[in-house]
Amino acid sequence: MSSKFYIGNHLSSSGGYLAMGKKATELGGNTFAFFTRNPRGGKAKEIVPSDVDKYLAYAKEQEFGKLVAHAPYTMNLCAAKADIRQFGIEMLADDLQRMEYTPGNYYNFHPGSHVGQGEEKGITLIAEALNQVLFPEMTTTVLLETMAGKGSEIGRSFQELRTIIDQVGLSDKLGVCFDTCHVWDGGYDIVNHLDEVLEAFDKVIGLDRLKAIHFNDSMNDLGSYKDRHAKIGEGKIGLEAMKRVATHPLLVGKPFILETPNEDEGYAQEIALFKSWFA
Ligand code: FE
Ligand code: FE
Ligand code: ZN
Repeated sequence: MSSKFYIGNHLSSSGGYLAMGKKATELGGNTFAFFTRNPRGGKAKEIVPSDVDKYLAYAKEQEFGKLVAHAPYTMNLCAAKADIRQFGIEMLADDLQRMEYTPGNYYNFHPGSHVGQGEEKGITLIAEALNQVLFPEMTTTVLLETMAGKGSEIGRSFQELRTIIDQVGLSDKLGVCFDTCHVWDGGYDIVNHLDEVLEAFDKVIGLDRLKAIHFNDSMNDLGSYKDRHAKIGEGKIGLEAMKRVATHPLLVGKPFILETPNEDEGYAQEIALFKSWFA
């Protein structure tokens, strides 16, 4: 595979880093995503330095793209309850320490749900949390994920993400993960107006912040605020539009991560499909 584009999927971290790297290769990919701990939260698995070393050598040899680690879903930095917020802040702080074992990669999280406190308050709490845990020496870039806007999710609009970034001191540590299903569900028409959506992103946030793509079709319509992922080409975004995203000159070269409802075989097929667009 040319090292000019990066595709992979979410892998189980239960066997460690080298196992994930080999699994990515087996499925045809050259990057991957994983949950830093159980997606529902809780204690993280011990990191084994020798496993990390083997992985790093393997990734170099295989010319892997940057990894896109994913925070647990239970992390809500703008929860109304202080103890839930604190739990999230502690997980985030711990995860960022752990990420330094694999320097220079990405850590993606859902900004949070304001649960009735309002967007402004939610944004302030998220920024406060980031200001507590980001540290100058870190090599990881923390990615705010674009959200579908279901419930009281923060991050449906590019402007909300921009406002968070503006309130963070070490904002050079922040980027954005562009989830195609979420952006579409959130009301950005990447099917008919991809260029305009990317222009809007550039104007509001800046394309230099767009670090990774969650590459998912959507089961629902534009602006549905739903967040149900579909297999590539089997949803409302559709194959042609997904291909235009994958091959867009402003996006090529960034890690593309599949979060589609698949088992290994389906992921291998979608990875092969993605690669066929560059053949
Ligand atoms: Fe996500
Ligand atoms: Fe996503
Ligand atoms: Zn989603």
